[in-house]
Order: sequence, then structure tokens, then C-alpha cells
Amino acid sequence: MELPKKIFYKTQAEEIIKKLAMRNMNGYYCESADEAKKLVMDMIAEGASVAWGGSETIKETGIIDAVKAKDSIKVIAREEYVTDEQKRTLKGLIATCDYFLMSSNAITLDGELVNIDGAGSRLSYLIYGPEKVIIVAGMNKIAADVKEALSRVRNIASPPNAIRLGCNTPCAKTGKCMDCLSEDCICCQVVVTRKSRLSDRIHVILVGEELGY
Ligand code: SF4
Repeated sequence: MELPKKIFYKTQAEEIIKKLAMRNMNGYYCESADEAKKLVMDMIAEGASVAWGGSETIKETGIIDAVKAKDSIKVIAREEYVTDEQKRTLKGLIATCDYFLMSSNAITLDGELVNIDGAGSRLSYLIYGPEKVIIVAGMNKIAADVKEALSRVRNIASPPNAIRLGCNTPCAKTGKCMDCLSEDCICCQVVVTRKSRLSDRIHVILVGEELGY
């Protein structure tokens, strides 16, 4: 990446981190995905239980592989819970886990987290449950304000996500949000996290690279 862009990302991130602090969320800046992966692994305590929500970013950064490879971590991997009974058990395990990993669909310059979800199997755990939530987001996710963030989420992030998930939504076919109410809608929940009521719970790692959608 060119030096001016690197400096821009770092400068912008430093300002957002100050805004996150005002919202009782801890912010960090890493120049690269590798640096972010190391930070996440350093944050996770020995013997902790770890779950994660669907995210291209945490896959791309190698964080999921690193978590799975560390013997001392109790991994809660959704794909291992297949039957209805197991899936019900899984909900309880994630809600009471030590660390929940995810990205954010967008983050505003003022430090708000803006996210959408279909069933809510990611955002429910951001809002309540896991002891700590670690969010990893590339600087491509930054938007000026909530309005721009929602536009980004619906027109930039959702179409490729809908395609990736094989959802039969208008955005997957046209590349833009049609404000649908379709059966496969991935925007059933639209959540703006303005503040964390609990201190030291939500940790936001901004990465000076383009990651995820
Ligand atoms: S509301 Fe429907 S069309 Fe719009 S982004 Fe969400 S899933 Fe796609």
C-alpha cells in the first residue's frame, strides 16, 4: 500500500479510537492483518472459550485458523452442531462464551458500529451474552455517518454477502439494495451500536488494509 494511504488510515483510525472510547468501547489500530491476528491471539486468555459469527474478515486474516490451532482454547465451532437439539445447545454455549469474534459491516467516523443480520445469530451476541466481543474490521468499512454506513452496508456489503451465502435476494441479482422483504433477506435486523453499557466488553481492532466486504 502507498505511504499516503497508510498514513491516512492510521490518522483516521486514531480519531475513531478516541470516539470509541467515548462510547465505552476499546479501540486498537493494526497496520496489517497479521498484526491484528497476533493482537487477537494475545487478547484471548488461556483456557478461554471462543466462538465467532459469520465473517469474511476473520477468515481472511487467518484468525479462525489460529484459534482452532491453539490447544488451550475451547473452540465453539458452529459447523459441529448439526441437529436441532445440538443447535439449541450451541445458542447457550455462544451466549455464555468468553470471547465472541466478528467484524462490523460498517463503522462511522464517530465510532458507531453499524450492522445487519438475517436471523440475528451474530448480532444477538454482539448486543448481549459473551463476556467479551472482539471486532476486527478493515479500514474499507469506515463511513462518514450512520446514513452513509447504512448505504454502504446495503449497497456494498450486502450484495456480495448475499451471493456468497446463496441468498435469493434482489441485491444478489442487481448489485444494489431493493429494500426487500424476501424470505432470504439478510437485513432483517439493522443494528447501530451507539455505546457499550459494560466497560471492557467490546474491543474494536481497525486494520489498515481492505478486508471483507
Ligand atoms: S434489504 Fe434485501 S435487497 Fe436490500 S440489501 Fe438487504 S437483502 Fe439485499
